[in-house]
Amino acid sequence: MAAIYQKFNEFLLATTVLNRLNAHLMVNRHAASLWLNEPGARLRVTAVPAFADNYIWLIHSPILPEQVVVVDPGDAGPVQKSLRNAGLKLGAILITHHHADHVGGVEELVRQHNVPVFGPIGEFSPGNPERVGDGQVVRLHELGLEFTVLEIPGHTKGHIAYVGHGALFCGDTLFSAGCGRLFEGTAQQMSNSLGKLGILPGNTQVYCGHEYTLSNLSFASVVEPDNRDIQEHIKLAGSLRERGSPTLPSCIELESKINPFLRLGTETVKRAAAQYAGHMLSSESEIFAALRDWKDHFRPSPSNAGTVPA
Ligand SMILES: [Zn+2]
Repeated sequence: MAAIYQKFNEFLLATTVLNRLNAHLMVNRHAASLWLNEPGARLRVTAVPAFADNYIWLIHSPILPEQVVVVDPGDAGPVQKSLRNAGLKLGAILITHHHADHVGGVEELVRQHNVPVFGPIGEFSPGNPERVGDGQVVRLHELGLEFTVLEIPGHTKGHIAYVGHGALFCGDTLFSAGCGRLFEGTAQQMSNSLGKLGILPGNTQVYCGHEYTLSNLSFASVVEPDNRDIQEHIKLAGSLRERGSPTLPSCIELESKINPFLRLGTETVKRAAAQYAGHMLSSESEIFAALRDWKDHFRPSPSNAGTVPA
């Protein structure tokens, strides 16, 4: 009887210790996640170049150094190679929109790594993703990562972005000094979507899907020839590209100074867009539509052309 009583006491003690440990972990995990969402806590993100000018982003887990999350793996090959070379393990896949250069590698990566996939609620993506929409949170607790989803239609009808830890993964909606083409959405939708991104904190790091910065700056400098921030950034981006380095990430503060599509309310941009359209433009979506049409027909000068967006 005494032996049974002693065993029961040991069981109670063990349970209490376990409960305390769990509570401690929960509190610490919560604190860690709050701290990690502070803009000051910079994520480690690696660019994996793919195709002519795509970037596939690897987000490193802040708590498990060998684990990464991949954003928009258009091609499995370069991702597998990067994982192998750096001894990394894939923990999850995030998809911003359904275009092949963003999802082409998803099925193969799922087959190889059997990881969860998250994709837009408003459109079909391969890999049987958990479909997420505006305001939903992608929680990857075991990796110490958490991202809020923003619906940003325009480039495609269901395009989403992931925001967290002071970083924005915005696919083909916002580019440095430019924005994506309107393939499925309207000018009104796209200007609203860009407006949503433009009000994120200024130090939010912007990870776009393509290296289009120089050709976008070439257009931006025609829209605003007297904008000194654009001229300075042309020099910086040019020297980065000469060294073969990405011009990304950008940040929202810089984009608010150099990106005409985030500057629809400024007089110089309004005036230039009206001049292109040949008449007064009354709303931001009209200004956006004129700028987007102008950009679609714009050919950058050969000296600072960069890559011409497809
Ligand atoms: Zn796209």
